[in-house]
Amino acid sequence: MNYDIIIIGAGLGGLTAGAKLAKQGKKVLLTEQHDRPGGCATTFTRKDFTFEVGLHEMDGPGPRDLKVKIFRDLGLTDKITLLDVPEFYRFVNERYDVVIPHDPEEAQARLTAFFPDDEEGIKTYYYYLLNSRKILAEENLDPGKSVGEFLDEHIRNDDLKLILLGNLGYFHDDPYTLSLMYYLVAQGSYYGGKASFIKGGSQKLSNALVDVIEENGGTVKLNHLTTEIIFENDRPVGVRYENTKGKTKEVFTAYAGEIVVNASVPALVNKLLPGNHGKELSDKMEGLKPGASLLTVYFGFCKSLKEVGNSWYSTFIFDPTIKTQKDILPNNHSEFETRGFTLVDYSQLDSDLAPAGKGVGAVCCIDYASDWEGLDRETYLKKKDYVAETIIARCEKLIPGFRDALEYAEVGTPLTVKRYTLNPEGAVYGFAQNPGKPMDYLSALPENIYIASAWGKFGGGFSGSIYSGYMTALDILRKR
Ligand SMILES: Cc1cc2nc3c(=O)[nH]c(=O)nc-3n(C[C@H](O)[C@H](O)[C@H](O)COP(=O)(O)OP(=O)(O)OC[C@H]3O[C@@H](n4cnc5c(N)ncnc54)[C@H](O)[C@@H]3O)c2cc1C
Repeated sequence: MNYDIIIIGAGLGGLTAGAKLAKQGKKVLLTEQHDRPGGCATTFTRKDFTFEVGLHEMDGPGPRDLKVKIFRDLGLTDKITLLDVPEFYRFVNERYDVVIPHDPEEAQARLTAFFPDDEEGIKTYYYYLLNSRKILAEENLDPGKSVGEFLDEHIRNDDLKLILLGNLGYFHDDPYTLSLMYYLVAQGSYYGGKASFIKGGSQKLSNALVDVIEENGGTVKLNHLTTEIIFENDRPVGVRYENTKGKTKEVFTAYAGEIVVNASVPALVNKLLPGNHGKELSDKMEGLKPGASLLTVYFGFCKSLKEVGNSWYSTFIFDPTIKTQKDILPNNHSEFETRGFTLVDYSQLDSDLAPAGKGVGAVCCIDYASDWEGLDRETYLKKKDYVAETIIARCEKLIPGFRDALEYAEVGTPLTVKRYTLNPEGAVYGFAQNPGKPMDYLSALPENIYIASAWGKFGGGFSGSIYSGYMTALDILRKR
């Protein structure tokens, strides 16, 4: 079959690119190896609970938020409902319990009340975040500088640094290897005064994007893995793909002028591009590493956590052993008794995820696929049980009555993420955003292959992936 565009993968980047291209009249084929669209942006059900896989909070919508324009352009505004997340996050360690609002003025005032000696540093931190684009364009910011170095330069109090880094896991596992340039834009976008969750879960957004593709004549093939990009006369001309469900394996071939890759860039190089074609790209990727992965414990409650006494949407817990920024990375590799985590209480704002009177929550922390690889099935399951039990005990300490309210718990590891997204090491944000991270790997792509995912130039998260998909579509439309 011939198409204008073939898209490999139905994560947010692939779906957004597909929706825009189909809406502009292009004949689109999208293949997805999993049984549902969305990649990380999916939900799954157990008993009568709907569990969110990959969204705690999405930055925006705000006045300067490109997603507002994208959602409007794709006709999504009536198809999904964005719920305002009440606070940015609550931070708890042994010395502090602080709630950071999304409003930057309020956030500064609150932090200054706790840390009056750091008033100037707090002002500087927020000035950089709120003016990140101007600063990146006009100031000679060192691309090799890390967030950790920036905080050490401007903030004196170690607890204040930790509080500001409460949600570091949204981006990376270590402040000293996270690019300041990337952080300023990404963290700054959460201070637009608002952040949101998608009512009913992120699957609603992914499904709505599939609808746009199909309503505009495009084809979305779930349960179909693309195995190879076909070259003719040294030019990519199509793909080979096969079904992942069913008794007999069928292999299909499709041709198109342009190929959009939502699958990871390492998979493109190592699996999809044949022979030598990946070599140039692979050389340019030297030094780039897959970014962090996450472990999640999904909780279904027989009564909502609100009833049990919790008042916060997301609470970040830092163990007493984290005293300075330098302790964060070792802590992310520590046992689950001490590892930092976030508790998300979805029932604070979305009642669609559980039946009336019940609730859904999740605990999430940085984790590493290598810690789970090579275990036999029994050991793997036992380790999951130990993790669930350890985290439940820690949540009970935080919210007495947590255990009694619990009806269901399940652990998803980095290997779970890897299995459902095929991302190497279960990476959820694409390449690690290390200081000075080279971008020229993108220029080594054949001119009709595009990256629309967290592995592209905008980085990971909902916003990064959506922008990557939309901009890719615009690039193709302009070219054609
Ligand atoms: C637990 C968790 C919490 C998160 N929390 C947040 C949050 O609060 N806010 C936020 O902004 N972001 C969050 N994220 C990150 C965010 O969800 C991801 O960065 C983003 O969704 C990645 O989108 P993507 O387009 O790169 O595709 P991915 O989600 O990586 O999906 C890629 C898709 O391609 C498919 N695929 C791969 N190879 C092939 C192939 N060869 N053939 C066919 N299909 C293929 C996969 O099956 C998958 O569906 C979270 C992620 C997780 C896992």
